[in-house]
Amino acid sequence: MTTIDHWIGGRTASGMSQRTSTVFNPATGAPSAELRLASASDVADAVGVAEAAFEGWAQSSISKRAKVLFAFRELVNNHVDELAALIVDEHGKVFSDAQGEVQRGLEVIEFACGIPSLLKGDYSDQVSSGVDTFSFREPLGVVAGITPFNFPVMVPMWMYPVAIACGNTFILKPSERDPSASMLVADLWQRAGLPDGVFNVVHGDKVAVDALLDDPRVAAVSFVGSTPIAQYIHERGSANGKRVQALGGAKNHAIVMPDAGIDFAADHLSAAAFGSAGERCMAISVAVALGSAADAIVEAVTARALAVKVGNGHDASREMGPVVSAAAQQRIKRLIGTGEAQGARIAVDGRDLVVPGYENGFFVGPTVLDDVTTKMDVYQEEIFGPVLSVVRADNIDDAIAIINANPFGNGTAIFTASGESARRFQRGVHVGMIGINVPVPVPMAFYSFGGWKNSLFGDKHVHGPEGVSFYTRAKVVTSRWPEVAASAGANFNFSTTAR
Ligand code: NAD
Repeated sequence: MTTIDHWIGGRTASGMSQRTSTVFNPATGAPSAELRLASASDVADAVGVAEAAFEGWAQSSISKRAKVLFAFRELVNNHVDELAALIVDEHGKVFSDAQGEVQRGLEVIEFACGIPSLLKGDYSDQVSSGVDTFSFREPLGVVAGITPFNFPVMVPMWMYPVAIACGNTFILKPSERDPSASMLVADLWQRAGLPDGVFNVVHGDKVAVDALLDDPRVAAVSFVGSTPIAQYIHERGSANGKRVQALGGAKNHAIVMPDAGIDFAADHLSAAAFGSAGERCMAISVAVALGSAADAIVEAVTARALAVKVGNGHDASREMGPVVSAAAQQRIKRLIGTGEAQGARIAVDGRDLVVPGYENGFFVGPTVLDDVTTKMDVYQEEIFGPVLSVVRADNIDDAIAIINANPFGNGTAIFTASGESARRFQRGVHVGMIGINVPVPVPMAFYSFGGWKNSLFGDKHVHGPEGVSFYTRAKVVTSRWPEVAASAGANFNFSTTAR
């Protein structure tokens, strides 16, 4: 079995730690590699390398940085299928979905290629007699990204293209469950001409994460993962004086209004609930069905759930792969059981699904739970599996109230033919990303991505303009170039512009 090393200073590095964890192929359930888990001193070495690389990279011209970004964009674009295959091997999602993930990451690289425009400052001529004011933004230094298993390419790409384009050096700590794509990315960066030490990959668990959070040379931390860890990262990183953006978990609701097209809503709801086995932070896991829409949508989603083709993500005829791990499989099945025990009606039960030829794979079939209430565990917990819970509500105000009472606020959607309902919804919900007849409203790269409430700790969203702002800090210069002989003497009053 292969061992996956770190990538530090432009080459693979085994580090001093003897600890490893096992990477699995979720479709077969078989181990595929051993992964090195960094010690605190391995992390310190990587931070030292990134710190040493910072000065040169930060001082490189903005056009040189853009050039590297353009070259990296070409290389990633030429390796979409290789990256997607690595995602399928270790995450399990189907190949076409993995290609889509890489594509959404590429869009952030393309956004970052525009860094010369994005970093343009402001200039005010003659703010006082002979005085000009201008502003520009500088990189922070060494920044770190700690990322989840569910988008092993796209989520890190929310971070490092922008951070590196801004002139920072970067340490990525990817998920232990699907680390291989990050190693190919590191190789592509090097081939693009990025100086060694600017992009580094350190594998590990809490030990590595804590070392990054505690190292005073790390200026900022971007995190994406579950809510308890996001909160922890935000608190510990902030206490250590770092800038932190920590995106957490989700429980995304979609309202189905009585005026919605039921076939349209059912197609999109089932894709949003069961695509990528429900392991998307923007997956719809709760349908809030109103009035006469309720029975119709349950019936239509049931038919679609039963028809989903589940299997190995490398099989092009399949629509949904396994979940990521045996532990995830057990957790999802247990939660479905609590739903049943607490009074939900199981319209489709995916617990007993067995995929022929993949009997040891971590599969859970699409599941639909009807008559779910907000008190049930299946409603309160983030299931992160292919399970759609249907909650019934009487009117749109009640539906919005349900969404707003939920502690998460990542994404939400409404299916309706009414502009009035859509507008009431978009203005009334306490959620960061909103879809109107769009169930998975992931913003394009030139907007920023982020939720509200327990879905984001810190105040900057990722990529887009807020990403540029997160990875830089402002300088404002007030300048005067007097003729040497022209001094009018000292003025001890606070300076004003009326001179
Ligand atoms: P996770 O929180 O278990 O792990 C995320 C990262 O944190 C990994 O790199 C992991 O190694 C590290 N980590 C885990 N436990 C830690 C600990 N105790 N101390 C320090 N670091 C620790 O999340 P996951 O299971 O990999 O990913 C799924 C979660 O991510 C879901 O909750 C999902 O909603 C969320 N997610 C959110 C978004 C978003 O945009 N808000 C996007 C993707 C995923």
